[in-house]
Amino acid sequence: MMNHSNQQLNYWPWKLNWKSKIPHKVACFVWLLAEEAVLTQENLMKRGIILSPMCFLCGEQAETVNHLILHCRITGQLWRLFLNLRGIAWSMPGKITEALKSWEGSRSASKRQKQTRIVPTCIWGTICRERNSKCFENVENSMEKIKLNCLLILCFV
Ligand SMILES: [Zn+2]
Repeated sequence: MMNHSNQQLNYWPWKLNWKSKIPHKVACFVWLLAEEAVLTQENLMKRGIILSPMCFLCGEQAETVNHLILHCRITGQLWRLFLNLRGIAWSMPGKITEALKSWEGSRSASKRQKQTRIVPTCIWGTICRERNSKCFENVENSMEKIKLNCLLILCFV
């Protein structure tokens, strides 16, 4: 997987990810998301592995990649947190690559550009961690804790 992702670096639409000091695991995960290749339940089901199709985070909708990282109620709260903090008016595009492009365009409104740039990575890294801890370890954090985790990633990467 790593060799494969290294070969794909040139195609990554948002190269900043790889230049900034984002932990490699998180950066790799975001690459996977952009390729829509992450092993969500949707993908597992396509491979004939039958699981509940519900999103692990909200339990309300089918867990597609787009749902999990753009439209899920839990993910949406993280987006709103940063949009409010930064005073950015932004409507969520339908696709991950569009979201990244749109976010890159909108950040000119912010003075703290460097930190704003890595917000999507922080959100998705947090969501990935939360989803996996719920899915594999059966550990569920409160919304406040999830928000705090996300802010901590942003402050310390
Ligand atoms: Zn959800």
